[in-house]
Amino acid sequence: MTASLQVKLKPGDTIGILGGGQLGRMLAMAAARLGLRCHVFSPDPDSPAFDVVLNATCAEYADVDALELFANDVNVITYEFENVPAATAMVLAARRPVLPAQKILETTQDRLVEKDFIRKLGIGIADYADVSSAETLRSAIGRIGLPAVIKTRRFGYDGKGQAIIREGDDIGQVWEDLATRSAILEAFIPFEREISVIAARSADGHVECFDVTENEHRDHILKFSRAPADIPEALAAQARGIAGTIASALDYVGVLAVEMFVVQGEEGPKVLVNEIAPRVHNSGHWTLDGASISQFEQHIRAIAGWPLGKPVRHGPVTMTNLIGDDIKDYERWLTVPGATVHLYGKGPARPGRKMGHVTQVFSRNE
Ligand code: AMP
Repeated sequence: MTASLQVKLKPGDTIGILGGGQLGRMLAMAAARLGLRCHVFSPDPDSPAFDVVLNATCAEYADVDALELFANDVNVITYEFENVPAATAMVLAARRPVLPAQKILETTQDRLVEKDFIRKLGIGIADYADVSSAETLRSAIGRIGLPAVIKTRRFGYDGKGQAIIREGDDIGQVWEDLATRSAILEAFIPFEREISVIAARSADGHVECFDVTENEHRDHILKFSRAPADIPEALAAQARGIAGTIASALDYVGVLAVEMFVVQGEEGPKVLVNEIAPRVHNSGHWTLDGASISQFEQHIRAIAGWPLGKPVRHGPVTMTNLIGDDIKDYERWLTVPGATVHLYGKGPARPGRKMGHVTQVFSRNE
C-alpha cells in the first residue's frame, strides 16, 4: 500500500503546506472550514498564508532541521507551488506522506519531461523540440518553423523564461537573452481561445472535474476567467477526459490544473494541452463563490483521504484578477452588486503582482 492510500485525517488534524502565497492562504482557509488545521512553511516572512494559520515556519527550503520539526507537527504535507526543491520533498517524504506525490514534481518541473509524458499518453500537444544551444535552436526552427515560442525547461511562470521568435529575429541573440542551457522550442499555436480544466483525484482513483474554464491573459498573466467556457459540450467533455487521463497516469492525489488551447482542426475544434500545474490554480478561483465546493476544499478533501465533493456550479461565473495597481479599485469592487472580493493581504502592489481577485456569479438568464 502506498503512503497516500494510508492517509485518513480526522477533524483537528494538521496539514502542512509548503509555500505561503495566496494559494496556500486559500487552502488553509478551506481546511479551517472543515475543522482541519494548517502549518505553513515558507522562507518569506511576508507570506500572506501566515496571516490565517496558527502554526507557521519561516525558514529556507534547504533547512533540514526546520523541515524535520515541520514534518513532526503535521499529519500530511502538500504544496502550493510546483518548484518545491527535490531535496526538500525528499526530506519531508521520508517522514510524512507528501501529496501530490514527490515523483509528480519530477514530471511537471521540467517542460521537456512534461511534454514527453503528455505525448506518450496520445494527447494532442504543440510540436516541440529540445534545445540546448544556438545551433540546436536553429535546427529546431528548421523543423518546427516560425513563429515559434522558446521556453526555459525549468522555473518558467507567468510568461517568464519564454519568448516568441519571429521571422527575421537574431537567433543568436534570442538564445543569449534566454540565459539558459536547456529550453524547448514550441510551435506557435494560433489558438481560438484558452481553457483550463481543474480536476481532483482521490487516492482510490476517483476523478471529479469542475466545469471547463475559459481564460484571458494580459502580459502573459491570467486576467480574467469565465465558467463555463464558451465551447461545445463535446469539446468540454474531451477536455475533462484529458485532465482525467493525465491525473490517473500520474497516480495523482489532489487538485491539478491542465491548461489547453482550443484550435480549429480539419474536423472542427480540438484541444491541445499547453501545460500541467500540479496544484490549485488561478483559473479555478471562480469555484470559491461560483460552486458548491471550491478547488481549495476539493484539494484538502483529496489529501485528507476524504470523499471528493461533486461540485455544482451556481450559474455563469467570472473571475477578475486584481494585478498590481488594480488593487486600488477594491473599494469600487466592494460596491458592485453580486461581486465577491478576495484580497490577499500582500504588501506593496508591484506591477504583475497578484493582489486579489473578484468573482461574480450571474443568474442563469443574464
Ligand atoms: P505557459 O507559461 O506555457 O503557460 O505560457 C503562458 C502563455 O503564453 C499561455 O497561456 C499562452 O497565452 C501563451 N503561449 C504559450 N505557449 C504558446 C504557444 N505554443 N503558442 C501560442 N501561445 C502560447
